[in-house]
Amino acid sequence: MIARERAIESLAGERFDVVVIGGGITGAGVAFDAATRGYSVALVEKSDYAAGTSSRSSKLVHGGLRYLQNFDLGLVREALLERQLMVKLAPHLVRPLKLVVPAFDGDRPDLLVGIGLNMYDVMATPRLRGRRSARRAAAEAGADPDGDWSPERHRMISGEEVVELLPALTGRNPTGGYLFYDCQTDDARLVLTVLGEAERFGAICANRLEVIELVREDGRESGVTVRDVESGSDFIVHADNVVNATGVWADRIRPEELHSEADLPTIRPSRGTHITVAHEDLPLVAGAIVPAAGGRTIFALPWLGRSLIGTTDNDYEGEIDHVKPSSEDVEYLLEATNSFFGTSLGSGDLTGAYAGVRPLISTADSKKSVDISRKAELYETSSGMITITGGKLTTWRRMAKLAVDRLVERDGRKAPCRTDGIPLGLAVDPASLAEVEGVPEESYAALAARYGHAAHEVLRTAAERGELAQPIVPGLPDLLAEAPFAARYEQARSIGDVLLRRTRLGILAAAELQDTQDGAHAHSAVARVARALGSELGWEERRIELELERFRLEGELEGILAEV
Ligand SMILES: Cc1cc2nc3c(=O)[nH]c(=O)nc-3n(C[C@H](O)[C@H](O)[C@H](O)COP(=O)(O)OP(=O)(O)OC[C@H]3O[C@@H](n4cnc5c(N)ncnc54)[C@H](O)[C@@H]3O)c2cc1C
Repeated sequence: MIARERAIESLAGERFDVVVIGGGITGAGVAFDAATRGYSVALVEKSDYAAGTSSRSSKLVHGGLRYLQNFDLGLVREALLERQLMVKLAPHLVRPLKLVVPAFDGDRPDLLVGIGLNMYDVMATPRLRGRRSARRAAAEAGADPDGDWSPERHRMISGEEVVELLPALTGRNPTGGYLFYDCQTDDARLVLTVLGEAERFGAICANRLEVIELVREDGRESGVTVRDVESGSDFIVHADNVVNATGVWADRIRPEELHSEADLPTIRPSRGTHITVAHEDLPLVAGAIVPAAGGRTIFALPWLGRSLIGTTDNDYEGEIDHVKPSSEDVEYLLEATNSFFGTSLGSGDLTGAYAGVRPLISTADSKKSVDISRKAELYETSSGMITITGGKLTTWRRMAKLAVDRLVERDGRKAPCRTDGIPLGLAVDPASLAEVEGVPEESYAALAARYGHAAHEVLRTAAERGELAQPIVPGLPDLLAEAPFAARYEQARSIGDVLLRRTRLGILAAAELQDTQDGAHAHSAVARVARALGSELGWEERRIELELERFRLEGELEGILAEV
């Protein structure tokens, strides 16, 4: 991405066809789609890219087996086709994942689950739906019916196979189970990758720019006033169209005059908490569907060397800029995990925790949030602002298409969506990466998965300055070189940007990042990141101290090491 200073110069000095508010997956998708259709695009993000819900998901690119229970067939089918397309467009970043539903005590796996999985297979695999209707469905979804990855059908597996895939279940002697497939990603990296593509097509993006007002000319929205959160100064980004992609904040961006309240969504946030534990404490090769209290299920998933457990789903009324995991939620997840795997994990075993809020759109009924559909909705005010919210990480491309189709229709242009055919981030073979002295073996695959082709550049940085070739946290593959890389190419501005959203160490190794106040301060993982980042951003010693304190506060506000 271009440097933030340069982006701000362009944003303040040029006029754009479209300004997108929000740098989560939806905003990134809209910017990307609009730019590829020939629009000049600006995107502004008040905090950091993906700092909202888009870094706090379960990291699944999936149809959502659960939504079949609500007969949300359209949503599931659409998401399954997107899943297939994402593996094709970003194979390094969106990867197939095996999931297991185990059975115990000689029981056969639940018949109802089997019926659901059958439907999942049929909807996921165009081949199985009969060629004609399959092609039509895939074309409708913008997917290539001959896409490369196509999951195998689900099947029953033996108890031994269950244990091979879920070693954590060894003590419970499972007698069999279902094996099926979904996909997994790194959500924040997906956002950064899509933004990178948007920029490649000419979009100008900057973080730490908060929209404080909509600008109006002749009764229509014609841009936004933004506040540069770093300098405190305000300026206008002029644009003919405004797209509000602010997720849970969507009902806070309001035109001065609103024709009807129905022109904007009413968001009903629902909090979801996740925890991570060491692989050794809960060894998983595949994901598991784990029953939890209240008739719900949660996931236990292998992710970036840890085991990721989540999620809860409860109405939430607190502050949404920093959402903390609640202690009840953490207890709920630990209880479900312990009773299923026969473990005795406690809060002291967490390697991290995080919570996020779903941008669910409120309807008049008083159903619990788990039952509310994850469908995306588009709104349009009489003054022209388009709001696109709801939906899922998986369906970002379809949401973006919905919003940009509306712009195109309004303009009477002929510009079909092209994002179904544009690779995201250029995958790279880890074996093709140049070896750099000091870089641990496992880092090459991790860098290739995270950055695709740009992994070459991270390694070049590591080669130039030997001390940057070492891992940030011993035993984990993330390199110190990723900090200056993030500042130079991904607009990282703070330690939190690097540790929470460029790498994911903040939620995978929170304890190792908490030692900023002890005697080892100067050599702590966080201090080393601060220095590596500061060398790129020109931080003096006092600024480094200030940034360390800021990160400590951010970690506290985010509850990355939840205490029960
Ligand atoms: C616990 C949980 C688990 C989930 N798991 C999955 C999953 O496994 N798979 C899946 O497909 N989906 C999942 N989802 C859903 C998915 O994460 C969300 O649908 C998606 O991330 C929403 O993205 P967004 O871009 O619309 O919102 P956000 O990511 O929240 O982005 C909105 C952005 O707008 C910015 N903003 C707000 N106001 C302003 C302003 N005034 N000026 C400038 N910027 C502003 C915010 O800072 C924010 O970055 C999950 C959600 C949750 C909460």
